[in-house]
Amino acid sequence: MDNFKYLMPTKCYVGDNCIKNHGKEISCIGKKALIVTGRRSSKENGSLDDVVDTLKSLDISYVIFDEVEENPSLETVDKASNIGIEEKVDFIIGIGGGSPIDASKAIAVLINNKEYNAFNFIGASHLEGVPVIAVPTTAGTGTEVTQYAIVTDHKEKTKKNIGHSVFPKLAFIDPKYMENMSYKNTVSTALDAFSHLAEAYLNSNANILSDLYCEKGIEIFGGCISRLLNKVLDNKLREDLMMVSTLGGMAIAQVATSLPHGMGYALTYNKGVSHGLANTILYKEYFNAFKNKERVEKIIQLMKLSSLEDFGNILDNLINVDIKVTEDELRDYAKDMAKNAGKLKNHPEEIGEEELFNIYKKSLIK
Ligand code: NAP
Ligand code: FE
Repeated sequence: MDNFKYLMPTKCYVGDNCIKNHGKEISCIGKKALIVTGRRSSKENGSLDDVVDTLKSLDISYVIFDEVEENPSLETVDKASNIGIEEKVDFIIGIGGGSPIDASKAIAVLINNKEYNAFNFIGASHLEGVPVIAVPTTAGTGTEVTQYAIVTDHKEKTKKNIGHSVFPKLAFIDPKYMENMSYKNTVSTALDAFSHLAEAYLNSNANILSDLYCEKGIEIFGGCISRLLNKVLDNKLREDLMMVSTLGGMAIAQVATSLPHGMGYALTYNKGVSHGLANTILYKEYFNAFKNKERVEKIIQLMKLSSLEDFGNILDNLINVDIKVTEDELRDYAKDMAKNAGKLKNHPEEIGEEELFNIYKKSLIK
């Protein structure tokens, strides 16, 4: 039998109005919250109001930090954590996509460890954060059920995981906040969720429990494909995609992501490609690079597609980005990726710099 660890400590409430129905649990977590969110969407989709109304009804005080940008920087994390320390908050509520929720996790660690700051806490031995509550409003990252927090380090010109494990204590997962999300954002985040499931399934750490999440999630994603292609963004699609995302998060929490996530960061940092598209633009060639395609074929079957070619055509229809990149740039990205031992060890086959370069080149230079 395989040896593996299983950990999923986040209590999740899923479904319509779950903050209103179960928000009283927040009173067990803390007395003063720092609400961490992006600039606009949480004000428009009702999630911020739902949280604020619940806190008021519970007599819990709060401060709002609403400046988190996409791919949150260490500078933003630094600013918010200083506000949290000054305001003496004892827990964080992250509302939004992966960016505000990941920023919340980093801020939680810094508030609990005042001797560190945003520019020196990565790499320190494990630090605990104050409690985090997550309210996801995108169906993509699954960060509400993962221990990861991805931040942008402008000094090193890259994105990285903070390396301290911060599972949210509580997650309120309500797909209604996505009702007015644009088609472009819906596709990009849905493909991120799919990529978590696929990379967890094609992973050297895969185990019976991660496989369960992956197989169910990939099957549900397969059922979403025609609605995504036909732009049928109804409530059922939102619910399905939210489950795909949460299942993907639960899977990568066990086994982590693999090559496309490591390779996509360079495209996001240097070319501004959104996270989900940056990964999946590489997917057809990532699948093709497997010498043993048994599990790749299982993914195609679970999605009820006929072939890898069929899947490639679907991605071509969904991913509409024009990346201008030279072979020299791709050589540099491949060289960096070849040094990324953390991601390479999750890929179950030997793979070298030249093959990584070929995945980039065949995907991006037509
Ligand atoms: P995001 O960067 O959080 O948000 C993208 C955009 O979507 C923002 O403009 C945001 O607006 C908007 N938005 C959010 N919710 C919306 C809604 N309900 N309706 C309309 N617009 C909405 O996107 P994301 O893809 O969720 O997160 C990406 C980040 O997560 C990346 O940094 C990635 O590396 C990271 N990630 C983390 C994990 C993990 O396990 N921790 C896994 C994968 C990826 P506002 O700015 O106005 O809110
Ligand atoms: Fe991701």
